[in-house]
Amino acid sequence: MIAPAPDNGRAHVVRLLLVEDNPGDALLVREMLRGALDEPFELVHVRSLGEAQRELAGGGATCVLLDLSLPDADGVDAVTRTQAAAPDVPIVVLTGRDDERLALSAVQEGAQDYLIKSRVDELLIGRSIRYAIERKRAEVQLSHQALHDPLTGLPNRTLFLDRLELALARSQRRPSAVAVLFLDVDRFKVVNDSLGHGAGDRLLVDVARRLQNVLRPGDTVARFGGDEFTILCDDIDGERDAVQIAERVAETVGAPFMLDNNEAFLTASVGIALTDGKDQRADSLIRDADSAMYRAKERGKSRYELFDSVMRARAVERLEIENALHRALERGEFHLRYQPAVDLDTGAVVGVEALARWQHPVRGLLEPEAFIAAAEETGLIIGLGAWVLEEACRQWHAWEAAGAVVPRMSVNLSARQLAQPDLAEVVARVLADTRTDPGSLSLEITESTVVADEGSAIAALYALKDQGVAIGLDDFGTGYASLSLLKRIPVDVLKVDRSFVAGLGVDPKDAPIVTAVVGLADALRLTVIAEGVETSEQVYALRAMGCRYAQGFYFWPPLPAELVAPLLAGRLKVGDPIA
Ligand code: C2E
Ligand code: MG
Ligand code: MG
Repeated sequence: MIAPAPDNGRAHVVRLLLVEDNPGDALLVREMLRGALDEPFELVHVRSLGEAQRELAGGGATCVLLDLSLPDADGVDAVTRTQAAAPDVPIVVLTGRDDERLALSAVQEGAQDYLIKSRVDELLIGRSIRYAIERKRAEVQLSHQALHDPLTGLPNRTLFLDRLELALARSQRRPSAVAVLFLDVDRFKVVNDSLGHGAGDRLLVDVARRLQNVLRPGDTVARFGGDEFTILCDDIDGERDAVQIAERVAETVGAPFMLDNNEAFLTASVGIALTDGKDQRADSLIRDADSAMYRAKERGKSRYELFDSVMRARAVERLEIENALHRALERGEFHLRYQPAVDLDTGAVVGVEALARWQHPVRGLLEPEAFIAAAEETGLIIGLGAWVLEEACRQWHAWEAAGAVVPRMSVNLSARQLAQPDLAEVVARVLADTRTDPGSLSLEITESTVVADEGSAIAALYALKDQGVAIGLDDFGTGYASLSLLKRIPVDVLKVDRSFVAGLGVDPKDAPIVTAVVGLADALRLTVIAEGVETSEQVYALRAMGCRYAQGFYFWPPLPAELVAPLLAGRLKVGDPIA
């Protein structure tokens, strides 16, 4: 008995397609089948492969009985072409040719069985058809599982890549374009965390169904992972088409969802990458769409962005920077500049901040903005950060040895460094090796550095504090966690972000903010340093607010070590020309 196929309405009737050009043989097969199958069957008989292909294109065939000597196809070629016309339909070869090598190649090409006409009987053909159908069904199911996402039933990453590669190859021969859309559901984690994973799963299934409904039948939508979907639109006219699809997609995700009688609302960020197919690789097209999606997120989510040449240039530059970073440390391409902080009452230098610079072999001198983020992402910041700390402490010791007094050396720490389990040991070792007084070192972190991995970050800060090192909170006021964070971490220094200082005398809201920060620092007995001071008006305003320390181009920019020595020795004062 042949089990009915689960999703085929016509499955109770077995539909056999007999491809046979010899009328006598066809008659014999028909007779044999009558006794061979218990269930009702329909036999469609065609005389050529061309007719068979047309018949298969219409769908509905359960199994093909294929002769290998046809007017328009011969041997293995007949199997290959039948298989291509209907990859999911089993093929039983029924031929007069008793040729073991031919039989083997036919099976390798996808035939389920190879029967020789003169030796076949009712029993054999019935069994062969039944087994062929079952084997094919299992095979189709397995390959479906390997290529689809179990939750949504959508194609997975592997199948998406496969289809994209095919589409790119096809598009070389066409004037049209191929678009990849990368969609990420905004704030999906919040839904998952607040409503539970069951609800999250139901939402994803719903999103998948909606996406399929707004796309053309030939388009592919895949689940790429988590809350990420990718869409492949083949054969489109260009940018306008792609943008319209993005708009449709965003609109359908934006319509309310029903979850246990409650309405839920989602939005999506979509990145679009387009190509005419020439010299474009599937993985790089997906990466471009992904970058564009990130841009959409950065620009406030719930929107789409097109990958453009500027983004491409930036992506290429970023990659180059990352590659060059790997060698920069061992080649000694980094050095430090030191920016003095001054006492506004006396003009004395009260400390210096070490700031990294990279002498890039091709691009010249790079400031941290060009490489710190890349170093963070690649993890190279760990090595770079350790080098900065060591170099700064070595310099501190050199100045001290030369008789200068360096009240405080500030070094910036990144989130990755703070998450390092052995950070406190690394710092202790550097302090000992360079014979630096722990009380002279201040490590600067930003609010977001701590928030990234709060529990262990706080523990790390206390471990540093125990060694006598001071902790500075940098760019204060620009993060998210300012006030409550002050209670939870051991802070000694607050650095007022330069955006507030820049607004003094310009934006009426900035003076009250700086006044409040200074007041807060006083009340908590913290040292407050204003950053980015550039004008005498700002100095005046800061003094009036009771801010005692400042750092900025008005006094000195970050300087090479040899120019800092005379400042520390008191041989240079604020306003004196340097170098
Ligand atoms: P930051 O720690 O807030 O450092 C102060 C930045 O403000 C420095 O930029 C400095 O050159 C700049 N600056 C100082 N005075 C003025 C001024 O009057 N006006 C203006 N517009 N800017 C001023 P820089 O050296 O480019 O460093 C930028 C950021 O890169 C630093 O901000 C810090 O967060 C990070 N950074 C620098 N060196 C390191 C390092 O060794 N490790 C880590 N993790 N981060 C570093
Ligand atoms: Mg800093
Ligand atoms: Mg800062």
